[in-house]
Amino acid sequence: MSQTRFDKVLIANRGEIASRVMRTARRLGITSVAVYSDADAHALHVREADEAVRIGPAAARDSYLDMEAVLEAAQRTGAKAIHPGYGFLSENATFVEACDRAGVTFIGPPASAISAMGDKSAAKARMQHAGVPLVPGYHGDDQSDDVLKAEADKIGYPVLLKASAGGGGKGMRVVESAAGFQAALDGCRRESQAAFGDQRMLIEKYLTRPRHVEVQVFCDTHGNGVYLFERDCSVQRRHQKVLEEAPAPGMTAELRHDMGEAAVRAAKEIGYVGAGTVEFLLDADGSFYFMEMNTRLQVEHPVTEMITGQDLVEWQLRVAMGEPLPCAQDKLTISGHSFEARLYAEDPEQDFLPATGTLERFALDLQGAGLDPERVRLDSGVESGDVVSMHYDPMLAKLIVHGDDRAQALATLNRALAALDVRGVVTNRNFLQRLASHPAFQAAELDTRFIEHHQEVLF
Ligand code: ADP
Repeated sequence: MSQTRFDKVLIANRGEIASRVMRTARRLGITSVAVYSDADAHALHVREADEAVRIGPAAARDSYLDMEAVLEAAQRTGAKAIHPGYGFLSENATFVEACDRAGVTFIGPPASAISAMGDKSAAKARMQHAGVPLVPGYHGDDQSDDVLKAEADKIGYPVLLKASAGGGGKGMRVVESAAGFQAALDGCRRESQAAFGDQRMLIEKYLTRPRHVEVQVFCDTHGNGVYLFERDCSVQRRHQKVLEEAPAPGMTAELRHDMGEAAVRAAKEIGYVGAGTVEFLLDADGSFYFMEMNTRLQVEHPVTEMITGQDLVEWQLRVAMGEPLPCAQDKLTISGHSFEARLYAEDPEQDFLPATGTLERFALDLQGAGLDPERVRLDSGVESGDVVSMHYDPMLAKLIVHGDDRAQALATLNRALAALDVRGVVTNRNFLQRLASHPAFQAAELDTRFIEHHQEVLF
C-alpha cells in the first residue's frame, strides 16, 4: 500500500455508506468522487459528491463490481485513493492488487491480510497460531468422509458443518446427531460447490445460545494496533444483523480486555492495516471463540463512534495517508450506550420481500419529536422523492442513538423510530419497533436466536 497524502478520494460504493464517507472527507478538506450505475444516476450519493463518474449499467457486476471501470474512474478524475465502503469490492484481494499496480491507495488492509481471512480453514489455523481461542472443532486438510465423521463424533453433537470458502450463511448446516452426519455432509458439499466452487468443510461444536460479540480493531502502518471495544450484534434474522449495540451488555472489564487483546493479536498476526472487525461467539459461561474477521469498515461502525467519540472514517483516511493511529489504547474510553437499527425497504408481512417504489417522504423531525440532535444520527442513503430500485441491497438508512446508559438509549431509539416519517415504500420499521420494545430485548436477554425464540416480533 502506498502511503502518500491525497486530497481527492473516490468512493467505490453507493447508498448511505458513500454519503457517510463523503461527510468526513469534506470535513477534512478532501474532495469526493462518486461512481454510479445507470440506476443511480440521480441517487443521493451522486448529488452529494464533488464529482461523479458513471461506471456502467444497473447490474452490480457491470458497475460497482467492475474493477477496471472503478480504477479507470479514479485515474480519469485524478483521485489518488479509493474508499471501498462495505460489500462490493471491499474485501476483494484482487482489486487491492490492481490498485497497488495502478499506484492508487486502497483505503483498507493489504491484499495479503484479506486473503488470509478469506478462507475460513486457513484463517483458523492462523488464529490458533496467534493464540486466539477457537470453537472446538476440526479445520484440517484431510477431507475424507471417515475422518470428518470421526472428528464430528469426537467434538460431540450437535455440530455445525461450515464451508471453508463460505460466507453469508451459505454452505452451513447444524447436525443434531451421528445418524444425520453423512446426509448433511453431502448436502453441504453440494451447496458449497455450487456457491463457491469448493467443497472443503470445517466442523465446529454448535453452541446452542451464543451471543455474537465483535471487536472493532484498528492498525496503522507503524506497528500500532488498538481495539475500540465491542458491539453486540446478536439480534439477527437469517444471519443478517438487525439491531446492534455498544458496549455489549454484561461485559466485565476483564472479559472486555481479554477479547480486545485477542482481537488485536488476530489483526497483528496477519499484518493488518486499517479498520477491521474480529467476530466472536460468546457463550453463556463467558468463554469466547473466534468466528471470523471482517476486513473492512462494518455497517454497524457508528455505534462504536457514538460511545468512543471517534470518527472511524477519519481514522481510515489518516492511516491510509501513513499517519499513526490518532489515539493510543489507554486514551480510549467508553461513554454511555448506543444502538443502531437498520431500516430496510422490505415487507415483514411478506417474508421480508424487498420493496420498491418512490419514497414520497423520508424524514426525521428531531425537534418536533423532542430528540437531541447530539444523541440521534440518521445515516441515510435516500431522501424524500428518491426511487428505491430492486438492483441493490434494500437497506435505506441506519438510525443510531446514544444515551447515558442502555435504558436511556433504548428509550431514545423507540422515540426516534416512532418519529421517522417514511411514506411510499414499505419498510421494516414496525418490526424494528417491536424488537426494540420487546421486554426480553429491554432486559438484554440476547442470543443469536433471539428472533427465532420470540416469533411474536415478526407480526
Ligand atoms: P458466514 O461467514 O456465512 O456469515 P459465520 O461463520 O460468520 O458464517 O457464522 C454466521 C452466524 O452463524 C453467526 O453470526 C452465528 O449466529 C452462527 N454461528 C456460527 N458458528 C456457530 C457455532 N459454532 N455455534 C453456533 N452458532 C454459530
